[in-house]
Amino acid sequence: MNLYEYQAKELLIKYNLPVLKGYLCNNLIDVEQFISSCNIKNGPWVIKCQIQAGGRARSGGVCIVHNTTDILSFSTKWLGNSLITYQTTDTGELVNSILIEPSVKIIQELYLSILIDRDESQIICMASTQGGTNIENIVQKTPDLIHKITINPLVGIYPYQGRILACKLGLSGVKINQFAKIVVDATHMLLKNDLMLIEINPLAVTDNDQFFCLDAKIISDHNAIFRQSELLNICAINKTYNTLPDNQWDSINYVPLDGNIGCMVNGAGLAMATMDVIKSLGGMPANFLDIGGNANKECIMSSFYMILKDTKVKAILVNIFGGIVCCDLVADSIITVLSAYNATYIPVVVRLEGNNAALGTNRLIDSKLNVVVTNNLVYAIQQIVTAVKLNNANIN
Ligand code: ADP
Ligand code: MG
Repeated sequence: MNLYEYQAKELLIKYNLPVLKGYLCNNLIDVEQFISSCNIKNGPWVIKCQIQAGGRARSGGVCIVHNTTDILSFSTKWLGNSLITYQTTDTGELVNSILIEPSVKIIQELYLSILIDRDESQIICMASTQGGTNIENIVQKTPDLIHKITINPLVGIYPYQGRILACKLGLSGVKINQFAKIVVDATHMLLKNDLMLIEINPLAVTDNDQFFCLDAKIISDHNAIFRQSELLNICAINKTYNTLPDNQWDSINYVPLDGNIGCMVNGAGLAMATMDVIKSLGGMPANFLDIGGNANKECIMSSFYMILKDTKVKAILVNIFGGIVCCDLVADSIITVLSAYNATYIPVVVRLEGNNAALGTNRLIDSKLNVVVTNNLVYAIQQIVTAVKLNNANIN
């Protein structure tokens, strides 16, 4: 799983790595809000298209802006359009969001990456003084400018190893320990989160000798994601779930159907009964989805997101009869996904009964999201069928 730059930076912050405070915009309203809240004297700003490929600057997807007009015109140009870089396919990647950060005065752009060397069963940490947008050429033409240390994953990293790398880069004074701390913290982050790659390029040194991770690429190990809820929470903040295969969770039974009411239910029998009632009350299910009896939060979030991203779904019904699965866990998962995707456009009805139903109901009510919550199945289905009919009537 690849993280977007802004997600990667959120993770970096959690591990005390130096990152500038950025502002994420998913649409032009967010951009307007940034403009009205920012003090333009604090500029210039760097404005960056969020795609999961590098090489953005060379293709115009990263830009320094000095005034609000330029912020707006950059955002209007890129939001909702594709950015093609030498690392994307010919059709490019859709820009769903942009990140705005203060622009800093860079004295030196370092390159730092930490990755797993599967052949040697070691962690490798690579660094160069030649960071920035031209690193691929440097690797090819002057590989001796890339310095490496290996880290035994069972022992972990020691600060002296970071200092050795700092000296190989020719850093001096306080910068040696500052750099070593970054290497140590980043390696802890890699180990703790089961990451396969962290690439910080550039790791900038500013005119007042501060380090900043100005760009970050993170790839996580898909096979370990089940134990990385922190990472999943960060990724839930946007569309990275698109990169997860739909059948990632063995416990999910999902069958797409022709209707337009997305269904998330626990238990195959209950799921079939739910579909029967939907049909008898005049609706058409868009899918059969049984999350299983023992689903965890990530599995529920993935299931709910799978329904949400199905373009034929016009409304979502969640029917949970809590046995082993707790209704509050289901409620929390729904809240996380709906909030992360700002999915206010779709009617959602949640029927909760059984284990922790009252707690789950309160969580959904307190969330202030536009979700109908009930413990009555027939009422829930009547609501969802009506919502779809109203939706269709509005469209026609
Ligand atoms: P990409 O690698 O996709 O081209 P980066 O985020 O690395 O995008 O940005 C490209 C270049 O833009 C960096 O190498 C750096 O020179 C400059 N840059 C990026 N962020 C900032 C910033 N906050 N302040 C000043 N310069 C920046
Ligand atoms: Mg970069």
